[in-house]
Amino acid sequence: MSDPNCIFCKIAAHEIPSDIVHESDTVVAFRDTDPKAPTHVLLIPREHIASLAEVDSSHADMLADIARAASDLAHAEGIDESGWRLVTNVGPGAGQSVFHLHFHLLGGRPMTWPPG
Ligand code: AMP
Repeated sequence: MSDPNCIFCKIAAHEIPSDIVHESDTVVAFRDTDPKAPTHVLLIPREHIASLAEVDSSHADMLADIARAASDLAHAEGIDESGWRLVTNVGPGAGQSVFHLHFHLLGGRPMTWPPG
């Protein structure tokens, strides 16, 4: 299912341009237009899901696909040895601004913890 008003659904459908770095039947990954690190890729399910709070057991394979794609992309980006972070924001209070589930793959610079 896709949402005609969702910008990430439009990216997944190639209806608007983006720098896509990985695609499968279940997952699309593209570069963030406002990168917070030298590598900043967003991984999304093709299916429109508002956030991780909407995920249930029917999404298990998709989540595994995202985890595998993130690891493969970290290797392709050359950050697998220096370290990388995969994070998703749930709700405006946590910084979510696009309400289609996405995971930020970040790397290429030292990461602090906890995030601000
Ligand atoms: P969040 O704030 O966690 O919802 O993350 C949304 C991310 O989407 C932000 O880092 C934005 O820079 C990014 N973003 C918004 N629109 C686009 C777009 N058209 N292409 C790529 N990244 C985008």
